[in-house]
Amino acid sequence: MSAAAPDFDALAQPGIRSLRAYDPGHDLVALRAAHAGSLIELGSNESPFGIAPGAMDAITAALPALYRYPDPRGGALKQALAETHGVGPEQIILGNGSHELLMLLGQVFAGPNAGVVASQFGFAVYALAATAANAPLRLAPALPHTAVMARGHDLDAIADVIDVSTRLLYLANPNNPTGTWYSGAGFAALLAKLPANVLVVVDEAYREYVTAPDFVSASQWLARDPRVIVTGTFSKAHALAGLRVGYALAAPGLIAVLERARESFNVNALGLAAAKASLADATHIDQVRVRNAEQRQWLTDALRARGLFVYPSQTNFVLVEFGNDTLRIEDELLKRGIVLRPMAGYGLAECLRISLGTADENMRLVAALDAVMAGEGGR
Ligand SMILES: *Cc1c(COP(=O)(O)O)cnc(C)c1O
Repeated sequence: MSAAAPDFDALAQPGIRSLRAYDPGHDLVALRAAHAGSLIELGSNESPFGIAPGAMDAITAALPALYRYPDPRGGALKQALAETHGVGPEQIILGNGSHELLMLLGQVFAGPNAGVVASQFGFAVYALAATAANAPLRLAPALPHTAVMARGHDLDAIADVIDVSTRLLYLANPNNPTGTWYSGAGFAALLAKLPANVLVVVDEAYREYVTAPDFVSASQWLARDPRVIVTGTFSKAHALAGLRVGYALAAPGLIAVLERARESFNVNALGLAAAKASLADATHIDQVRVRNAEQRQWLTDALRARGLFVYPSQTNFVLVEFGNDTLRIEDELLKRGIVLRPMAGYGLAECLRISLGTADENMRLVAALDAVMAGEGGR
C-alpha cells in the first residue's frame, strides 16, 4: 500500500502557488521536425547573424576540459566585461542567462515587506521574480498608445507608484515586448525622485542593438549612484542564447550580497569561453548592429506601407498590431512555416511580436503576409 500523495500545491509557498510553468508559445521542436529545415523562426528574438567566429573557436577549444567544473568565479569573463563596461570585476556577477539574475535579485531583495515595482507591458520575468519572492507587485501604467513611444515605460508614472515599501524597481531599456526606449535625461530625472532604499534594475538585454542618440546605458550611472543595477545578456546580439550567459553590473557591496545566494557553478565552461571571445570581437557586434538596424527599418517601412501599426523599436524585433485578424494571421503564417510570437499573455492580444530575421527571411515574411492578408477573412 502506498501513501496518498500530499497536496503539493498547498505545500508550496504562497507565491509559487500562483505561478504557472513557462509557456514557450510554440512547440518549436515539433515545428522544426514538421518543416524539415525550412522553418523561419521569428518568435524568440534570437540573432540570425550568427556567433562571432572567435567565439566558435573558443567553444571548440573548451571541449576537451568539459570533464572539469567550470571556473566558479568566471574570472576571465568578468575581466573582459569589466574592460568593456569600464567597471571593476568586483562590480560584476555572472548568471545562467540574465533571467537567473533577475530572479536572484528578487530572491535577495524582495519579500512580503519589500515590494516590487515594474511597468505595464514590461518583460514578464519581473512579475515572476516578485511573485516567486512572495513580494507585493505594483505595475505602473505604460505610456499611452501614440505613434511616438507607444506603450513604453512612463517614468513619471513609475515614480508615482513607488512608496516606502518599495525595494526593487525593474525597468527594461529598450523594453521587450514593446521595443520602446527612454532617454538618459528621463532616467536621470527618475533617479532624482527615488528614495534611497529603492534598487533600480535596468535590463539592457537589447542595448547592443540601439542606434538612437538619446539612449544612454544605465552603466553610466554606476559610479555615481549605488542604487543602479544593470543587466546584460549574451543571448541576443552575441547570438549565444543556447549557452545561457548573462551578467549584472552594480556596486561592489551589492554584488557581494548577491554572490552569497548564487549557485556555485551557474555558468557553464562553454558559455564562459564563448562569451569572453565574443566580447573580444567588437567588429562582429558592430556589424550585427548595422545589419539589424537596416532590417528594422526595412521591415518597419514595409509593414507601415501596408497600413499596419508598428511600434517604434530600438531592438531586434518589432511589435505589430493586426487587430481582429491577429489570431488568423499568426495561424496562417505558422502553416507556411513562419513562427511569430503571440502577445495575449502580455495583454496585447491584438499584436504579434516579430523578431528581425535575415534580409531574405524578412522578405519572405512580408510576401507570406501579403498572401495571408489578401486571403479570405482578410481585413
Ligand atoms: C531575452 C531577454 C533577456 C535575456 O534573457 P537570458 O536569460 O539572458 O537569455 C532579458 N531581458 C529581456 C527583456 C529579454 O527580452
